[in-house]
Amino acid sequence: MIHRISKQQVKEAVQEAYDKVKGMTGGANANYIPYLANIDPNLFGISVALPDGEVIEAGDTEYAFGIESVSKVPTALLVMKQYGANELLSKIGADATGLPFNSIFAILLENDHPSTPLVNAGAIAADSMVKPIGNSFGKWKAITSFLEELCGSPLNLINELYKSESETNFNNRSIAWLLKNYGRIYDDVEMSLDLYTRQCSMGVTAKQLSIAGATIACDGRNPVTGKQVFPAGLTPQIVSLIATVGFYEHTGDWLFTSGIPAKTGVGGGIVGVLPGVMGIAAFAPPLDDAGNSVKAQAAIKYIVNKLGLNIFSDKHATIETVDRKQTEQAMA
Ligand code: GLN
Repeated sequence: MIHRISKQQVKEAVQEAYDKVKGMTGGANANYIPYLANIDPNLFGISVALPDGEVIEAGDTEYAFGIESVSKVPTALLVMKQYGANELLSKIGADATGLPFNSIFAILLENDHPSTPLVNAGAIAADSMVKPIGNSFGKWKAITSFLEELCGSPLNLINELYKSESETNFNNRSIAWLLKNYGRIYDDVEMSLDLYTRQCSMGVTAKQLSIAGATIACDGRNPVTGKQVFPAGLTPQIVSLIATVGFYEHTGDWLFTSGIPAKTGVGGGIVGVLPGVMGIAAFAPPLDDAGNSVKAQAAIKYIVNKLGLNIFSDKHATIETVDRKQTEQAMA
């Protein structure tokens, strides 16, 4: 069954979610990365990007925060774009670890496999695979250009965050060298770790994240710029990765209660992808004990529930999108 949703309903749901969740308390900023501990905990924004390029926003959607683990999604996509999905599967894997994002135990348990590019181990391995191999500058350019194409606008590195993470990422250093020991780092170890640390420190807005989500939802075509950013056909693979491990050890709870594949970051951002329907992002710094934004989770759940967008439901939603060019012509 297909049920149609109007844009007006989406706008209302976004505003309602904002109003209801804004005053919510609970959670705390990430404290293991000093820069994140000091971000204003009251920042809060929600953004929905639709396949016709319209973006519906509420709150602080233009504030650039640390993308953190959400950056694992674009890098995994870039590796699939450069090598094909099968190579990512064989060199990294697509299994949930059921353990925290920075688990060393997970690597020891599955020592022939970093499991998935959406946990720290697999993301560092993915960075090591990015071409051009051996060329730190070229790899960084490839990673950031791809991220900008997904988001449809320029992004900046948050230098202070990068410095803060580089000075405190001892656990990630252990992960990188342990992976090297198991033959799962495909380029220089320190370079791969540094690329991972830097990509986590990119600033991104909720609006940009929602557009990146919509680009994935539209099988690689950025609905705002119109550019085909990755080869059509990769959406099922990347969404399957997001669905299986987007919330780490709480992914099952998340899917059970929200019905939408989504990826979190300790910067407070979450991006959800509903293939063919929308990209949805929310941002608020206070996190629960698994490192997921309390308000962003609540906002996305509210909207998905209100609009009946649960992907496991027998009802599939389509949003009535209007061809903006046609409307503009009609109004001229
Ligand atoms: N840069 C952070 C880390 O490696 C990202 C973690 C996250 O967002 N879950 O610890």
